[in-house]
Amino acid sequence: MRYKILLPQEIMQEGREYLESRGYELITGSGMEEDDIIRDIPDCDGIIVRLSKMSARVFEAASKLKVVARHGAGYDTVDLQAARRHGVTVLNAPLANSMSVAELAIFFMLHCSRNFTLVRQTMLEDYYHAKLRTPKVELDGKTLGLIGFGNIGSRVALKALHGFNMKVIAYDPYKTAEQMPEGVELTQDFNRIFKESDFVSLHCPATEETFDFIGEKEFSLMKPTAYFINTARGKLVDEKALYHALSTSRIAGAGLDVLKKEPFDPADPIFALSNVVIAPHIGAATQEATDRASLHSAIGIDEVLSG
Ligand code: NAD
Repeated sequence: MRYKILLPQEIMQEGREYLESRGYELITGSGMEEDDIIRDIPDCDGIIVRLSKMSARVFEAASKLKVVARHGAGYDTVDLQAARRHGVTVLNAPLANSMSVAELAIFFMLHCSRNFTLVRQTMLEDYYHAKLRTPKVELDGKTLGLIGFGNIGSRVALKALHGFNMKVIAYDPYKTAEQMPEGVELTQDFNRIFKESDFVSLHCPATEETFDFIGEKEFSLMKPTAYFINTARGKLVDEKALYHALSTSRIAGAGLDVLKKEPFDPADPIFALSNVVIAPHIGAATQEATDRASLHSAIGIDEVLSG
């Protein structure tokens, strides 16, 4: 019997070939919405999910399902309790996109350091103002404070240390000083990250514990010259407090790959600010990360189904 694997969204060739060469039948889904998956899944043994949500309703319709592979890091689109109730294994591809997200965090730091949103907005109208009178700084010698020191945070740290000669401090309650690479100082003092850093960058998961855990107090501790970078999740940040900190120049600026509402609300006033750079959740969207995610999720599916 050939196992059937549902693909609500297409995956990369590497992943397809891996599964097809091992005899799996790949089913192209009729869509990526919940109802589409409910229609397509009853006959399937596995599924690779990219943006689709695996809700309790989907698990109820999936009587043959044995494995869900998330095409990337995190499990936040999968109802893990429902998966457990139905005896379905859930896996992800945690390392597939770490490098790409780390590079985006560095990109945001460089973008902010040259005040590039403002420079870009004003350079045609007033060339010399954009060139000479918008404040700009180097990364060299500045302090980077990381919240979360896992796959992505640790990669950002090494790039900042060795590529830009930055000082790196990290807050991660689940790590020990022995786990830090040379040059990175682990602190258990959350506030210190905000007080001392020139760039604060988030790299921890969105959980009940971390929902809105960066808010008014944290922004008030930051230096007015400091930048806030979020390539992790919108849920981590109280966005009203962030908007207030940015619009009153309480902090110098921000680089954001994620907001709470995605796709974005064009009416969100944050888009009008000239000290912010915002991207539509592209941290993992490189060719390399997508290829790796497809292959890693295909390997995971095969490991579960081939026993
Ligand atoms: P990871 O699991 O490897 O690392 C997360 C780290 O956060 C761990 O070391 C953990 O100990 C730490 N942590 C947990 N709770 C914490 C807390 N309360 N305070 C500080 N640290 C805490 O995860 P990762 O792959 O490095 O991903 C980090 C974040 O990046 C996640 O939010 C993930 O969803 C996000 N992400 C974003 C994109 C994107 O496209 N922008 C892509 C992949 C991952």
